Amino acid sequence: MKLEKNIEVIQGSPNTLVYDNRIVIDLGGKNASLELNSEAQLATHGHGDHIAGLTKNAKIKYLPKMEYWTLDLLGRRALTYGFSSSKDSQVFTYDFIKDKIEPSGGLPSEVEEIPLPGHTPGHVGYIVDGKVLYAGDSFFGNKVIENFVIPYYIDITKGLESLDKLKELIKGVDYVVISHGPTYDNKNKMLSVLQYNIDYLNNLIKNVKDMIRDKERSVEEIVVKLLKDKGREVTPSSIILDSLTVKSILIHIGAEPIVTDEGLKWRVKN
Ligand SMILES: [Zn+2]
Repeated sequence: MKLEKNIEVIQGSPNTLVYDNRIVIDLGGKNASLELNSEAQLATHGHGDHIAGLTKNAKIKYLPKMEYWTLDLLGRRALTYGFSSSKDSQVFTYDFIKDKIEPSGGLPSEVEEIPLPGHTPGHVGYIVDGKVLYAGDSFFGNKVIENFVIPYYIDITKGLESLDKLKELIKGVDYVVISHGPTYDNKNKMLSVLQYNIDYLNNLIKNVKDMIRDKERSVEEIVVKLLKDKGREVTPSSIILDSLTVKSILIHIGAEPIVTDEGLKWRVKN
C-alpha cells in the first residue's frame, strides 16, 4: 500500500515500511525473504520477527543500542522468554532468526528515533521525513490484541506511558504505521486503534486485579484462566510468553508476593 509516492507499506506481520526505496523498517515474517536492495535496514526492537533486515546486505543496519543484548540467539531468547538456553526446545517458537547480527552505521538523517519502551526495554519508533511514524510493536491492531488476549509487554508501566506519548506524537505526523494489524492512511483511525489498546490494557489490568482480590494465585494460574476465559488454546509457549506480561502487571498494581508450598502466589489488598 502506497501512503505517498515515496512511502510504501508492504503488508505482513510485521508490516514493513519502505521509504524512497532506500530505507526499510522492520523486515520480517513473510516479507523476510524480500531482497529490497536498500541502503538502510532499521529494526524497532530485537524480537525475531522484526530483524530479518539486519541479516541482509545494507550499508546501514540499525538496532537501538538498548536492544543490543538481542544480537545473538542467547540474548534474543532471554528477552523473548525471560530466560535463555543455547539448547533448542519446542518452547522457543519465535526463533525466526538464529544468526548473529552485526549492526553497522548510524541512523539516516531523515529518520528520528523515538523511545517507546514497554513491549521491550529498548523498543523505539521511527519518524521518517517528519511525515510517517513507524510505531512497531508499541501497539497492535484491534483483532491482533484480542487474539493475543495477553499482549506482550515486558514492562506494562512503561508501555502505558509510551501509549500516552503516542497520542501526542500522532498530532505531529501525517501517517502512523504499526507492525501487526491493518495499515490506514487515515491517522484518526490509528488514533482510535491506539485508544482501543489503552482501554484494552486497562481492562486487562483490572481483570488481573479482580482475580487475586479474594484468592491468591500464581502467575501461571492467572495466565491459564485469562486464556481459557476467552476460549484460547493454552500451550507451553503461551504460558511462558504471557507470564512475562502478567508478572509486569502484578508489579504495576503493587500486588503482594506470597511464598507457598506450591510456589509463588500473588494477591492484592483491598
Ligand atoms: Zn515484538
